[in-house]
Amino acid sequence: MATPILETYNRAPLSFVKGTGSWLETINGDRYLDMGSGIAVNCLGHSNIDLIKALEKQANLLWHTSNLYSIPVQEKLASKLVENTFADKVFFTNSGTESIECAIKMARKYFFEKGFVKKKQIVTFEGSFHGRSMAAISASGAEKLTNGFGPLLPGFKSLPFGNLTEVEFLDSDQICAVLIEPIQGEGGIRPCGKEFLTGLRKICDEKNILLILDEIQSGIGRSGKFFSYEHYGVKPDIVAVAKGIGGGFPLGCCLASTKAASGMTLGSHGSTFGGNPLACAVGIAVLNQIFSDGFLSSVREKGMKFFKGLEALVLKNPTVFELVRGRGLMLGLKCKVDNSIVIEKAYKKKLLLVPAGDNVVRLLPPLNISEKDLSLAMEGLKSLTFEIGKGQ
Ligand SMILES: *Cc1c(COP(=O)(O)O)cnc(C)c1O
Repeated sequence: MATPILETYNRAPLSFVKGTGSWLETINGDRYLDMGSGIAVNCLGHSNIDLIKALEKQANLLWHTSNLYSIPVQEKLASKLVENTFADKVFFTNSGTESIECAIKMARKYFFEKGFVKKKQIVTFEGSFHGRSMAAISASGAEKLTNGFGPLLPGFKSLPFGNLTEVEFLDSDQICAVLIEPIQGEGGIRPCGKEFLTGLRKICDEKNILLILDEIQSGIGRSGKFFSYEHYGVKPDIVAVAKGIGGGFPLGCCLASTKAASGMTLGSHGSTFGGNPLACAVGIAVLNQIFSDGFLSSVREKGMKFFKGLEALVLKNPTVFELVRGRGLMLGLKCKVDNSIVIEKAYKKKLLLVPAGDNVVRLLPPLNISEKDLSLAMEGLKSLTFEIGKGQ
């Protein structure tokens, strides 16, 4: 089909016109159970009444003023983030990529201002994904992202995911930051080992290096804690956020300690749309629900139960699946068959799943999904697995 849209997306032959809770509806009224949440974005499901109200209220007041003026909803959202995390300072963006850009600039500027003129290099890890800007693809270094787009930006060094020794041997005179996803998302739902992340923190402390966490996918309750670093007992210096924080409205931010943020002086960075009133009003409504009593513990409980169900599915179907991994409602099934087969079959069962690297199928349902809908998802997975197993 000819389309005026740049053909960079490998789209499924599906289109939705409406969404309610964990369900999406096509123009024909066919309902699909959304186990992808727009890639971990619609964390409170579709047509969430509180988010609609917050957006409508702000839409009737004011849409945009620019950052030439102070924006009260932006201040309020920033205060909520600061009160509930390691952070002292917030910079608002419209996407994950921009949050990563801010994080990278912040780390370099910190050491520049301190007079460490050689500390420019950023260590990243194989299998990582940090977005699609030139800096973000250079950071990841993955062939799939960089092919044809060179020359890449210098100043990034990619190391094996999980190997502390390689980090220990780096020349700390050159390194300003370590950038890592505590749970790799696009890379195939690969959580860092506890020793690895705490080890990185220790090396960063010893060698005067900033630790930047990319929590764009794993944050905002996805892992069962507000940020996944809380599972590790690690305190970062800078955290990149997006996806879930807007619940479907484009919003992101870069969080930092006072220390790490200290180089970002007046006029050094900015964004026209970042921290727009509409986005921030929705962001506040999202956080109100995420921080409401029992919300995060319910994500952990649902996640644990679903994980056990998936483990049983893997055990029963060793020719289809290899293993399950992840935390909270950020789960991945590593497949033995091609993951696209599982995803195609799921469409036939009216179940939306998301592919990832390492031949993984991602399960990222809305965090407020009901137990009943999770059971339906499990039934769908069982029946499609049975069909794939039978066809082998
Ligand atoms: C999605 C994602 C990004 C990029 O976010 P965009 O909003 O697409 O720019 C970066 N890092 C991680 C871990 C992500 O999951």
